[in-house]
Amino acid sequence: MNQEALLSWYRRVQRPLPWRLNPSPWSILLSEILLQQTQMERGILYHQKLLNRFPTIQSMAESSVDEVLLLWQGAGYYSRARRLHALSIEVMEHYGGTLPDTYDELLKLPGVGPYTAAAVSSIAFSRPVACVDGNIRRVMARQTNQENPSAKEVQTFADEQLAVEFPGDWNQAMMELGALVCRPKKPNCIECPIQESCLGIERAHELPLPRKLVKKDVSMDCVVRLDSLGRPELIQRPDSGLFAGLWGPDYDTTLDTDGLDFLGTIQHQLSHRRLIVKVWKGSSEKGTNPNEVALSTLDRRVLNLAGVLLDIP
Ligand code: SF4
Repeated sequence: MNQEALLSWYRRVQRPLPWRLNPSPWSILLSEILLQQTQMERGILYHQKLLNRFPTIQSMAESSVDEVLLLWQGAGYYSRARRLHALSIEVMEHYGGTLPDTYDELLKLPGVGPYTAAAVSSIAFSRPVACVDGNIRRVMARQTNQENPSAKEVQTFADEQLAVEFPGDWNQAMMELGALVCRPKKPNCIECPIQESCLGIERAHELPLPRKLVKKDVSMDCVVRLDSLGRPELIQRPDSGLFAGLWGPDYDTTLDTDGLDFLGTIQHQLSHRRLIVKVWKGSSEKGTNPNEVALSTLDRRVLNLAGVLLDIP
């Protein structure tokens, strides 16, 4: 693969993302955690919101997890917010408030997996570690003309290709290529800076073969109980499980719906399952202001269906 061509392409076309314009280890870490499961546009929005409120690791460590969750509302995968808060405390307690600068040390922190540790150590600290994610797997499968490369094969490819003198730019270049040119559908091979070494170019659009994901349907009932002011009764969910730590109306798989009004059904897609939620309305004497607590996107949809007025998160 022509490393120079890819690097100079990246330096020419890279998107002016906030964490590239004003890089700091904390800002880069936030971006990597957000972008794993949130689309770029939303990721930028949440990155800005979080960084405004928590400009330093210390400021997050001194806040409550509920405040982090409140800002995280709508970004999904809320366990990330909880782990990020735990990470900030850990960094204050064990690293004097400074993010560690090696892959191995980063990997020990809450919520930091191999991908994030590789991204942060290479981009923020120029450590020669290769990142592997879905983008890299796709580029690798196409460059080597393989239908279903194993995780180990992808890692070996990434390690071998890494431009060790510019690991941060290199990893970002590979990911930028996957996002902008070697896209899942309709790869733009004509514009590709590494097309000369691409063995799968003739059938790029079908590589790699899609992984079969078994998506399960889970049916649930949910009752929104409103008080006389139209405020819903909300409970805080336990610290583990679905929507851990967030607030919402009660869900049940065996709800007694006698005397409740049926409002409709909501389908909500999670990564490996689809929730099919029947929503009912009842009454309560102890409503909560829903705009003062963190809610999941699903619960916001449920409350909307029950006519509860919500601020935009
Ligand atoms: S030539 Fe096409 S398929 Fe090959 S790496 Fe470039 S964009 Fe991807």
